[in-house]
Amino acid sequence: MSTHSRHAETILLHAGWRADPATGAVAVPIYQTTSYQFRDTEHASNLFALKELGNIYTRIMNPTTDVLEKRVAALEGGVAALALASGQAASAFAIQNLARAGDNVVSSTDLYGGTWNLFAHTLKDQGIEVRFVDPIDPQNFRRATDERTRAYYAETLPNPKLTVFPIAEVAAIGRPLGIPLIMDNTATPILTKPFEHGAAVVVYSTTKYLGGHGNSIGGLIVDGGNFDWAAHPERQPALNTPDPSYHGAVWTEAVKPLGPIAYAIKARVTLLRDIGAALSPFNAFLIIQGLETLALRMREHCKNAQSVVDFLLTRKDVSRIIHPSQQQGVHRQRADRYLKGGFGGLVGFELAGGKESGRRFIDALQLHYHVANIGDARSLAIHPATTTHSQLTSDEQLATGVSDGYVRLSVGIEHIDDIVTDIKHGLEAAAASRARRAA
Ligand code: PLP
Repeated sequence: MSTHSRHAETILLHAGWRADPATGAVAVPIYQTTSYQFRDTEHASNLFALKELGNIYTRIMNPTTDVLEKRVAALEGGVAALALASGQAASAFAIQNLARAGDNVVSSTDLYGGTWNLFAHTLKDQGIEVRFVDPIDPQNFRRATDERTRAYYAETLPNPKLTVFPIAEVAAIGRPLGIPLIMDNTATPILTKPFEHGAAVVVYSTTKYLGGHGNSIGGLIVDGGNFDWAAHPERQPALNTPDPSYHGAVWTEAVKPLGPIAYAIKARVTLLRDIGAALSPFNAFLIIQGLETLALRMREHCKNAQSVVDFLLTRKDVSRIIHPSQQQGVHRQRADRYLKGGFGGLVGFELAGGKESGRRFIDALQLHYHVANIGDARSLAIHPATTTHSQLTSDEQLATGVSDGYVRLSVGIEHIDDIVTDIKHGLEAAAASRARRAA
């Protein structure tokens, strides 16, 4: 019963698991095994022929990981999920599952830097062209589309710009053309449900909010089961033509009896089988632990981030605050439409005094960790111009939303007074350095 709940708080504690059938254990066990004893030869051949779903080998599936997959699929309202070794593996598989050499994908320009590298270089080297378009106008996706376009791709709340993506608008452009929208929802679990707005696939780096404790790298692809791949055989040949790597299976046909899970199954039994970016059962266990408190944490992240914004608004040495609550016009409309229950836990701000101020601010922090990560329960800070974006030219930095004085905070769930005190401390150090330079 509990797993049929539509409430995130309940799903995150119950979906996909009740108790260990062998021992009655309530916590999900870590099935630290590579392989699984088949009952007999018929059982083994049924599993390999996908006539029956079950465990074969941990590179492809594992009972601990299975609970994680079921839980996140339930949270998103999808039909199946595939856990992977990292968010990067999830983004790569999400595309490679549909696009082959000679094909293309249209992506938002506003992406995590690692995804940008994957798209602009590695996929390009594999013959898959990613066409980057500005999401300010959803029609840019249509304009960049041709007959070899296999997917649209975007992040719900990309940083550093923190401008929300027009999910329904772009999904609606793609659907009649047979082009699915793949949404990286890493920064906004619970706040945004991309499938409710027409997305077909959701990607997560579970390393961030889903795991939430900064202890394990992981990724997930969720199949919405809401996209009619079979209706577009020419647009989606990877799912509609015989797959020689699986004795000629046509994925939309082969898995019909199992439900609308062609996309998820193909990714598992071909890409994961061949490339092997499997999540370890131990990491799956840690991410499941994180999921149990995700709803509580997201509420606190959002509340504390809003309080940090309110504090920054009182400071004269902060010239700009980057947070959905401070946006106007179309960006604010999109934030209001797509973020429910809060504007997320990320806050950017612009310090007077450029790079040097940014550096001084970060060096003076005592509570915040100075790390290249987001979504930890702890508060994190980084100065992109001297770290994550330092390889870009100044013009390129500006195009991605990073100016010299830009500081990014991933606001944690500590007591808000302690978070604000630490930020105040950093601002005072930056002000002292400005005063010294001016003297
Ligand atoms: N997507 C987003 C939005 C991210 O922020 C990150 C990592 O920072 C990734 C994907 C990649 O995830 P991972 O580091 O787990 O490979």
